[in-house]
Amino acid sequence: MTVYLIIMYILVFLVSASIGSFLNVLVYRIPKGISAARGYSFCPNCNHRLHPLDLVPIFSFLGLGRRCRYCKQPISWRYAIVESITGIVGLGLFLYFNVIQELINHAVYGVYLANGKVNDIVTNLFYIGTDVVAGTDLADNTSIGSLLHRFGETSLADGGYNPIRSLFETGFIPLHEFTIAWLPLILWVVSFLLFCVLFTLSLIDMDTQEIPDRFHLCILILAILTILFVPIGIGLKSRLIAFVIISVPMFILAMIIPGAFGGGDIKLMAAAGLLLGIQGVILATFIGIITGGVYAVYLLVSKKNQRGGHFAFGPFLALGIFAAYLWSDTIVTAYLSLYM
Ligand SMILES: [Zn+2]
Repeated sequence: MTVYLIIMYILVFLVSASIGSFLNVLVYRIPKGISAARGYSFCPNCNHRLHPLDLVPIFSFLGLGRRCRYCKQPISWRYAIVESITGIVGLGLFLYFNVIQELINHAVYGVYLANGKVNDIVTNLFYIGTDVVAGTDLADNTSIGSLLHRFGETSLADGGYNPIRSLFETGFIPLHEFTIAWLPLILWVVSFLLFCVLFTLSLIDMDTQEIPDRFHLCILILAILTILFVPIGIGLKSRLIAFVIISVPMFILAMIIPGAFGGGDIKLMAAAGLLLGIQGVILATFIGIITGGVYAVYLLVSKKNQRGGHFAFGPFLALGIFAAYLWSDTIVTAYLSLYM
């Protein structure tokens, strides 16, 4: 681990936390019908326009002593918590998809290709790091070789689960130059966007017990993007069946038992079906019902529910959708192995 990597990770965290800051704005503005895209940020208490220095994620909150600079009204912890969670998830996904190492590996691979030393693309792409670090002629004579040295030994070299490598090895992704180089970056951006959409709709659902339609639209757009750019082995047929396989039973259940599910939950699971496919959407629903059920029992036992038996189910479904998007195969395999 070098200082370059640490600086890169801090930057990724800060950019992600700033996006978390924008999510706070959306959570506050969307239910009130205030335009989110235009206009400056303001204090919700005194309406004073905020200075750019008031908007640095987490640090402004701590630096200002958790109070508005102008009216001294305390600022809710929630803003800093949302910023921190978004920052941590953004960096976590960046590490999970190994974005930096994959891009460096590809750059090194490109140099190898130019030198005519590549026989087997997959072997060289994923094992090239060891060759270079082991001290071939490439290592010290090119800028990329020295770059790799600076960043340290590649984690892809051997052993260890790597989500990208497993996609190639199982043949889910055809080997194209373009896909190989940019896939980790695309996977990171798509999964982080998905997190932002799910996190924002969860917070709004917690506040208002409703999920605005634009969030379902966002998930549908993400689903179409993944169909086009991230061919992760979920067929179109599976996606289309998944679009109705949960949402229609939920709709029927809501007809029979009024208030069983909100319309927002039903639309959420339809959109999630198109994104996740059959296995994913069933898993997401399962996780949502289990975690939501645990929370319902907790409310019952602690007698904390003051909303007449209703609580926001969206956050639990959102948790299920995100877990299913990242680890659907891993979770289902682990679960089935318990019974076999
Ligand atoms: Zn104020």
